[in-house]
Amino acid sequence: MPNSSVIAVIFDFDDTLVPDSTSELLRQYGIDTNAFWKKAQKLVSTGYDPTLAYLKLILDNIGKEEPLGLLKRADLKKFGAKLDPTFYSGIPALFRDLKKIVGKFEDISIEFYIISGGIQDIVEGSKTVGRYFNGVYACGLTGDSPNGILKNITRCVTFTEKTRYVYEINKGLKPSQTKKNPHLVNQFVETKDRRVPFENMIYIGDGLTDIPCFSMIRHFKGLAFGVFNPEDENSAKKTLREFLKPNRVMSMHAPKYGPKEELGSLLRTAVAERCARIEIERQSV
Ligand SMILES: [Mg+2]
Repeated sequence: MPNSSVIAVIFDFDDTLVPDSTSELLRQYGIDTNAFWKKAQKLVSTGYDPTLAYLKLILDNIGKEEPLGLLKRADLKKFGAKLDPTFYSGIPALFRDLKKIVGKFEDISIEFYIISGGIQDIVEGSKTVGRYFNGVYACGLTGDSPNGILKNITRCVTFTEKTRYVYEINKGLKPSQTKKNPHLVNQFVETKDRRVPFENMIYIGDGLTDIPCFSMIRHFKGLAFGVFNPEDENSAKKTLREFLKPNRVMSMHAPKYGPKEELGSLLRTAVAERCARIEIERQSV
């Protein structure tokens, strides 16, 4: 019986909550996104990790004569603020509704997290993210000083790295703590003492980078929902083939989060069900 009554809803960011933010950034600066992602793919074929490949290409595009110009962290944040109107339907009402559902139960709380292979400053530039999310884990870029022109990678969130942050949430570590001491996540904590048990987690993601999290959370009895864009034939088919293997995701849905939309309605039900179960477990000896 879990002692904790904290529920965590964990989202991937790009193509789960908003259309791909890196591509949007590139487009804004007049960079051909198809050519960019093809180049990234080429780097991968030479041995680059996919996340490091695209981060390197971003840095390559920064400079006086380069398309991204003298890009700084503040520019990424400013760009992130423009994403607010592009969130998929039903966001941010979903967060308010889920809080309302949880509010009907005593001593149960709900938290929202983003674990993304995108760029942290873009994600955190969004007001919606700042307002509703308890933590964001994504890739970091910086200059020689925090306000300098971007030239270094501080954090690279690859697909397996994503699971590390699920463990941080599980053990109740705050991003501010683990930023200073990344090894904290390795400290032993008894399963019963963990702040957010895996069975209280709901994970929503769309891509290949989400598969380790899907598998892990499902393995530990949490819930995982896959998202795909039904308008993109290729993505839908590919994603379905990769995801719909036993025990990975519960089901696949269009990224629509309104109360009458499939995924939005399922998430509301899933949170209500989890609350009810916590309540029952508390009362049973
Ligand atoms: Mg994604």
